[in-house]
Amino acid sequence: MKIKALNGFKDILPEDVAVWRQVETIAHDVLERYHFAEIRLPILEKTELFARSIGADTDIVEKEMYTFVDKEITMRPEATASLMRAYIQHSMNSARPVQRLFTIGPMFRHERPQKGRLRQFHQLDFEVLGSASARLDAELMSLGAMLFAELGVETSLEINSLGCPECRPAYRRLLLEFIHDRMEHLCDDCKRRSVTNPLRVLDCKKPGCRQQVEDAPSVLEHLCTVCADHFGGVRSGLDQLGVAYSLNKFMVRGLDYYVRTTFEFITDRLGAQSAVGAGGRYDGLIEMLGGPKVPGIGFAVGIERLVLLLRESGQEPVRADEIDLFVAGLGANASDFAFSLVHGLRNNGLRADMDLEVKSLKSQMKQADKAGSRFALIIGDQELESGRAMIRDMGTGEQEEVDLDLETIRRSVEKR
Ligand code: ATP
Ligand code: MG
Repeated sequence: MKIKALNGFKDILPEDVAVWRQVETIAHDVLERYHFAEIRLPILEKTELFARSIGADTDIVEKEMYTFVDKEITMRPEATASLMRAYIQHSMNSARPVQRLFTIGPMFRHERPQKGRLRQFHQLDFEVLGSASARLDAELMSLGAMLFAELGVETSLEINSLGCPECRPAYRRLLLEFIHDRMEHLCDDCKRRSVTNPLRVLDCKKPGCRQQVEDAPSVLEHLCTVCADHFGGVRSGLDQLGVAYSLNKFMVRGLDYYVRTTFEFITDRLGAQSAVGAGGRYDGLIEMLGGPKVPGIGFAVGIERLVLLLRESGQEPVRADEIDLFVAGLGANASDFAFSLVHGLRNNGLRADMDLEVKSLKSQMKQADKAGSRFALIIGDQELESGRAMIRDMGTGEQEEVDLDLETIRRSVEKR
């Protein structure tokens, strides 16, 4: 019986990796312009870290985490909590007042696998700690917009504010009243949520529930003055930076730690999986995890969804040559010579390969072609004797005779 990968776990094959690298290269470039530094975090953390930060009655913590129950450790479902843990553990607030950090890596959630929804998926995660300024919110969203624009994927930005511990309770009560009158028409999940986390009812994707909450009171109309001012600042910041957005009063996000600004970059190209990137402000989270009183905001981009979008828009990178030179050795002696030559070429910075078995010229040229080599160097007994051999351009078929020494071969390859 063949063993296959687990459902929702996917191999990223070499031809996929080219697209992934393109995403990562552009992301690194944009991130450097915004003065972000990379941090690499472990995949396993204490379960408590996620339960406390994301919230015990969220979908993620309630039913999606991969937890080793006996060891009380969990494979991270997202990066923010781990990053906060590291920030606190290494007192990163004392190193510099504002920390702009990013991390890339796999996340694990036990969800129903479908297009753009996996159980192991990858996120590019950006977090900025140390400023409560509304300008930061706008700046971070401009980073997302710039990243998607440079990748050539079309997304639109939706924003909302969830208020703060000052104003949210009153809104929550108002919403509860509204939901209470419509309870019988809601799905079972929402019936349950309305007790534990009524804001999440607004977020339900089921058409029946959507219809019920259409006229729900908007959180934006019930913000306290401080939150309203902050949200006004975010909007004018976005205007100032020329970042287009729309308001979405239904966007509440499925994690408990958000306050004030939340936002999503969405697409209509991936069916139900519309969010390509999402995040928000989480002032209070670091303190709640036992750290200093430092505000923060962040968001995460799903790399699989980005790659799907790149593919759909026909934007895959042209497959580059894999190697510079394939050395074909004909016969035992030439093959032996080729073995040292390839090593020498590699040592000199060229990307080179050969057939380690001694095969026919035809078979070796086929391999050179499959290897995506720019040139082939063909060596037989005669070439060994004369010390000169033909180097063939695999694209044009042109040939040139060269001396069989490393420097000459390298120059011949590099001059084209
Ligand atoms: P969704 O609404 O699609 O479930 P989410 O709100 O759970 O997304 P976040 O936890 O905010 O997503 O994660 C940020 C990003 O990570 C999402 O916008 C998405 O691109 C990606 N993402 C989240 N869950 C998955 C998954 N199971 N498979 C692939 N990508 C995912
Ligand atoms: Mg989700």
